[in-house]
Amino acid sequence: MTFENFIAKLGLNHFKPHELLIYTNREKNGEPPRLRWGNIVPTILILDRLREHLGVPICLTSVYRTPAYNATLRKAARLSQHQAFVAADISARGIYPRDVCEILMQWRDQWFKSPVPIEQNRTRVEVPAGKIPYVPLNERESSGVFKFQFKGYIYYGETYVHIDTRGFNPD
Ligand SMILES: [Zn+2]
Repeated sequence: MTFENFIAKLGLNHFKPHELLIYTNREKNGEPPRLRWGNIVPTILILDRLREHLGVPICLTSVYRTPAYNATLRKAARLSQHQAFVAADISARGIYPRDVCEILMQWRDQWFKSPVPIEQNRTRVEVPAGKIPYVPLNERESSGVFKFQFKGYIYYGETYVHIDTRGFNPD
């Protein structure tokens, strides 16, 4: 299966597979390995809904980072969820990051629908410092619809909003 076919199953209205593969440094970074593809599913489904809600284009500025690439970023967290393909940095055209962040904060703990199962044990990221703390998302199924609860970390900078669905809400 190609990454394009995998993403096509999600029935996204607003994002194309290649947008998820955009990475900020093409020489040092790389593409997400197959075993991590499923990790991005909750995040991109939430972002597709956010795009609908905001009614303006959302640019994915950083999604996957290889551990080696992440280590070269001075400001990046050592246990960044970008390494798990669970996180995305976004900017919404004409909307302050603070306002986008506020909406996402309100959406946390709500249930979202998925056309594909959310893996109970999404792959952890192994980094030299240890493992990213990771709790699998809850999931229940009704008539072919899969559900997951949005739990993760959200914050904003001057020009972007970070969202991840790591499975719990850090303080
Ligand atoms: Zn981020």
